[in-house]
Amino acid sequence: MPHDIEAQDTRTGRVRLVGAGPGPADLLTVRALRAVETAQALLYDALISPEVLALAPAACVKIQTGKRAGRASMAQTTINRLMLRLARRGLDVVRLKGGDPSVFGRVGEERAFLEAHGIETEVVPGVTAACAAAAQFGFPLTHRGEARRLLIATATVSSGALADEGWAAAADPQTTLALYMGRDQIAAAAERLTGQGRSPATPAIAVENAGHPGARAIASTLGGLAEAVAAAGPTGPVVLLIGEVAARAAVPSAARDRIPAALKSLRS
Ligand code: SAH
Repeated sequence: MPHDIEAQDTRTGRVRLVGAGPGPADLLTVRALRAVETAQALLYDALISPEVLALAPAACVKIQTGKRAGRASMAQTTINRLMLRLARRGLDVVRLKGGDPSVFGRVGEERAFLEAHGIETEVVPGVTAACAAAAQFGFPLTHRGEARRLLIATATVSSGALADEGWAAAADPQTTLALYMGRDQIAAAAERLTGQGRSPATPAIAVENAGHPGARAIASTLGGLAEAVAAAGPTGPVVLLIGEVAARAAVPSAARDRIPAALKSLRS
């Protein structure tokens, strides 16, 4: 955006909408890491790990916006106004979101609001939960001859879930379906999918806390997943991956939970 030195916005800060990845600090992009390390104000969601928050400067104002420890999450309008106020004070604001900010991260709404008020924004991408899950448990999301489409959708009923056309695409045997916010909707989603012709024997996997050292994979079939997940009783965030590729999943030999030396040296 061109900078007008006559305008009173010479003190106006900016807002970077940053994807923090699934949690561990070594799954931040270098650009995200630099944004966190230089933030003057940080607004963060409930899924942001303490390890990532600790990378912000001590003087940085840190504001939690998501649900945690019984507190309700902030209303979107409150978050928007807060970002605007902080940016208008001239601060370099970082809005930190789990995974990728453009995947169920409301980045479109927040960016539109800020830009409508003349605030410069930048989006920094992050590793989304489905990618973290696939990498950690050793299966691809697409695979030649087996999965030609990756469909990212939410299974929550409140936001409308997939429209009917969406379920038809999801029923293609060569679709890998990544369902977010679907832990409590598995049975309903499976019913819709099998109703559209997807085989109940399709491999399916639920990954809890993907990307974290303590991640858990619950492998089953489309028809058996709801029961398998209910029996496992996950308490963390869960992403569901449904498709032939899920049969390729393997439990990793070792957790990789340390910041690699190369990334450490970038920070020093
Ligand atoms: N922007 C995020 C998604 C936010 S919606 C991303 O790109 O990953 C929140 C949903 O994301 C959760 O209900 C869950 O389905 C999924 N999710 C987020 N982090 C996860 C994680 N570490 N492991 C498994 N699922 C996760």
